[in-house]
Amino acid sequence: MFSYRHAFHAGNHADVLKHTTLIATLRHLMQKEAGITLIDTHAGAGLYRLDGDYTETGGEAKDGVVKLFAALRPLGKPPATAAPALAEYMDLIASFNPAGALRVYPGSPFVMHHLLRAESRDRLKLFELHPTDSKVLAANIAQLEAGRQIAVAREDGFEGIKAFLPPPPSATGSKRAALLMDPSYEVKTDYGRVSACIQEQLKRFPTGTYMVWYPIIPRPEAHDLPRRLKTLSNQSKRPWLNATLAIGQDPTHGPEDRPGLTASGMFVINPPHTLKAVLQAALPQMLAVLGRGRGQGQTVDSGG
Ligand code: SAM
Repeated sequence: MFSYRHAFHAGNHADVLKHTTLIATLRHLMQKEAGITLIDTHAGAGLYRLDGDYTETGGEAKDGVVKLFAALRPLGKPPATAAPALAEYMDLIASFNPAGALRVYPGSPFVMHHLLRAESRDRLKLFELHPTDSKVLAANIAQLEAGRQIAVAREDGFEGIKAFLPPPPSATGSKRAALLMDPSYEVKTDYGRVSACIQEQLKRFPTGTYMVWYPIIPRPEAHDLPRRLKTLSNQSKRPWLNATLAIGQDPTHGPEDRPGLTASGMFVINPPHTLKAVLQAALPQMLAVLGRGRGQGQTVDSGG
């Protein structure tokens, strides 16, 4: 069960889509003063070295964040104009790499922490089940000295969130929460657990913002997941948005090479009303830089 390590994949095209969507969504939610509870059900290790052993072996960042920076913010050259959401994503990544070269990639816990407002009593709850990654995550988070603002639990995120939703009321009495659900889907049952969990939480806390990442791969469960999430949103009369990015097959790969993940999606329930336009501006640029062969495409659909 624990073969998946996000370090191999950190900064790949899926992370670019996921973290750009996450930042754009949270930035909008943070425009309201009231505090918010942020939850990351599958947090990973938190910080990744882009020049470390794991990423060198997998090397997926080179077809993701590294390619994006080389195209839009080349070292020593003037930057190109980027869509606002992509610029915000790159600003955030750049803030972890003050020397210029990309050496560190912040995973979702550090992306979320970066956006937390101490004065608004925002809270961050992180779940990570992997024995090693949860230790690394706890150590990385401890360095932030964020005290009670951030909690790390070595628990099953699907179960653990039940204690936090609905969230406690903010100082103004409003209950606000945004959740990222980003399993590795290495076990087939993850697909069913995602939809069962979202179904339950939509009943317990229908106004939360729920962001689900999913892989686009030829597997019936993967194909069905965004449809199922759409149905659940419609049944609960909640608006939704579905953004997909497919970078296409690597043309340098031979027919016998395993293609790796080439496409993924982010499904957002109760998205900010601005998110569609923001992603419609960012995704074509993402694709123009990261697209590389047959099967490229991007979509942003919404409903409800
Ligand atoms: N969200 C992270 C990011 O964007 O930087 C990446 C997370 S990675 C795709 C999925 C993580 O979920 C892995 O680190 C894995 O160990 C962990 N995991 C797997 N099953 C879990 C579960 N039931 N509850 C919590 N974490 C789990």
